[in-house]
Amino acid sequence: TSSRSFRPVLEHIAEEMEHTPSRGRPADYIPALAARDPRSFGMAVAEPDGTVYGVGDWREPFSTQSITKVFTLALDLAREGDALWEHVGREPSGNPFNSLVQLEYENGIPRNPFINAGALVVTDRLHTRTGDAAGELLAFLRAESGNPALDFDQEVAASEAAHGDRNAALAHFMASYGNIDNPVPVLVDQYFRQCSLTASCADLALATGFLARHGIRADGARLLTRSQSKQVNAVMLTCGTYDAAGEFAYRVGLPGKSGVGGGIIAVVPGRCTLCVWSPGLDERGNSVAGVAALERFTTLTGVSVF
Ligand code: GLN
Repeated sequence: TSSRSFRPVLEHIAEEMEHTPSRGRPADYIPALAARDPRSFGMAVAEPDGTVYGVGDWREPFSTQSITKVFTLALDLAREGDALWEHVGREPSGNPFNSLVQLEYENGIPRNPFINAGALVVTDRLHTRTGDAAGELLAFLRAESGNPALDFDQEVAASEAAHGDRNAALAHFMASYGNIDNPVPVLVDQYFRQCSLTASCADLALATGFLARHGIRADGARLLTRSQSKQVNAVMLTCGTYDAAGEFAYRVGLPGKSGVGGGIIAVVPGRCTLCVWSPGLDERGNSVAGVAALERFTTLTGVSVF
């Protein structure tokens, strides 16, 4: 199943990145993330058969943050199917990831599952269905990455909880419309643990493989139907980088999902998955070097969904 190796392209990109001066700034609203070195850079490619390779800091664990929103979405969609879409939309928001404004106009139904409000709804529903949303996520990522050592970072979770007023506000506001099942403190605890999950580019490229395999997990079991897998990829393309999703589609041309830890996952359906990490962010919360590296990848290889 292995297509031609992208290893030489990755090496070329890593070399280019060493000579790219502007790298953005690590997120500082979660103090535990602010300490990372913006010059760190890693990139990995995973083939559908589970082969993985990379360059730079591709085995260095980092805080996955909003990248986990893809996995909770897939896990909940696998369980409840289309009923989920009555509680969260699938349109780009054009607003920052932590924005509150749109909720009042749309009756507490968040625009999409990849802004914080939408991710809170998804985690709430997954928690109701499983009794342990964060545990379900962790088990899934361990299985798909083949790395049983993956875990949450208690310090990051505590740091985020200590600065969690905005996420709690989002959850309370949606609860006022009846769109949250669990008590808000229970939900935000799950959500902060989810965001604190620590993994490397290698782990995340492998764990995203089910989206390149049209819904099939690493062990061959089906998680999503072929069309659900297409739908998740589509929502990643249109909403995965918040109010920069149009720019990301324009520059990179792949379904992608970023997190404020500086990671981005991307999918070439049927072909491979990528994960890039560099902690310096732009003002919309996306990794500067990460987006640049993915743009170079699709430009140099000609591989994209377009
Ligand atoms: N934990 C972060 C938050 O809720 C996730 C945001 C992100 O990665 N964009 O603020």
